[in-house]
Amino acid sequence: MSADTATPPLPDPPAHLAGYRAACARGELVVQRCAGCGRWVQLPEAACPWCGGGELTYEPVTGTGVVHTFTVVHRSFAPGYRGREPYVMAWVDLPAGVRAFGHVVGCAPEEVRIGMPVRVTFVDELPHWRPA
Ligand SMILES: [Zn+2]
Repeated sequence: MSADTATPPLPDPPAHLAGYRAACARGELVVQRCAGCGRWVQLPEAACPWCGGGELTYEPVTGTGVVHTFTVVHRSFAPGYRGREPYVMAWVDLPAGVRAFGHVVGCAPEEVRIGMPVRVTFVDELPHWRPA
């Protein structure tokens, strides 16, 4: 492989993701919550997109939900996912009133439906969803 075609190394993850990654490694689903305005923040951010506050903590949430919406990826541009197509990416409504994002696994893409009950599972220390 020449230097022209080598894949550059991925950058280090931002510091605000440390708590999220640690929870995922424990198999625990967490969502950020802003201490300033009390709103959920998902996906994780360095500052609250609602009030601009910087005091965001990770709170555990239930690992069950229902598919709010989804897409089937047939051609991936995401590093590490090329060759895994087709796969499903979904927003999942959680009982806490916030949506989580992730792959739907454990069923064929054509079986995924809006409103389908799902349960979190961790693959490569990232939250994925499978039929409940
Ligand atoms: Zn806020």
